[in-house]
Amino acid sequence: MSPPMPGLLLVLSAPSGAGKTTLARRFISRHADARFSVSATTRAPRGVERDGLDYHFVTPERFAALVAEGAFAEWAEVHGQRYGTLRATVEEALAAGRIAVFDIDVQGGGQVKAHWPRQAVTVLVLPPSIEELERRLRGRSTDADEAIARRLAAARSEMIEGLARYDYAVVNDVLVDAESALEAIVARERARLAGTEDRAAAAVADGLRTGRLDARRWFIS
Ligand code: ADP
Ligand code: 5GP
Repeated sequence: MSPPMPGLLLVLSAPSGAGKTTLARRFISRHADARFSVSATTRAPRGVERDGLDYHFVTPERFAALVAEGAFAEWAEVHGQRYGTLRATVEEALAAGRIAVFDIDVQGGGQVKAHWPRQAVTVLVLPPSIEELERRLRGRSTDADEAIARRLAAARSEMIEGLARYDYAVVNDVLVDAESALEAIVARERARLAGTEDRAAAAVADGLRTGRLDARRWFIS
């Protein structure tokens, strides 16, 4: 029997609208051993979101009780609502040797990495441009104008912080290319955890290190 695969915590962060939920869902559909890490949140469900699948939707009182119990590996306030990763979700994924896929903000991702530095890999998903980010937010049409303006204003700081703290950056321009990039990162990191090397994946992943990215295309108007 082959040894069990080591668990991996795949943290995806991005300015809202860059496509990390799309990438996360599609990654999970390709990997039988990957699961979405379902966070708890105080915000209301949007569109077709379902309780227990997209988020655990909880009241502010319930969220506060979970904080008091120490149930969260990390939690943060984003756009005026609270979001948190349940410790149990992470521990179950690691014990089962699965890939847990996180769709969380950069502050939360930094904390997951600090708790599980060996098993966590942090990936910043970037839009091809700020203009395309706005088009995607409007195209998704789940947010009011005011929420879109708020998300765009937050995008720059999320990108600057992510580029400074995260391991890798993937530009989500053509979706299938972004997916291939993510696959290379996961193959390289899983090989590392198994004590082996995937040289082809490592060569691709090295080019995706945050330090290799020229950030001028997002920050110069
Ligand atoms: P996030 O989770 O980062 O907020 P979503 O995954 O909800 O972003 O994507 C925002 C919108 O952009 C959605 O309507 C989605 O279908 C679209 N989208 C995602 N990736 C791409 C892509 N590569 N090209 C064009 N549109 C995309
Ligand atoms: P949304 O409301 O668009 O689903 O999420 C808003 C932001 O909260 C996104 O940046 C998302 O990644 C982040 N987020 C979702 N869950 C968590 C979590 O458990 N912890 C942290 N820190 N951020 C989260």
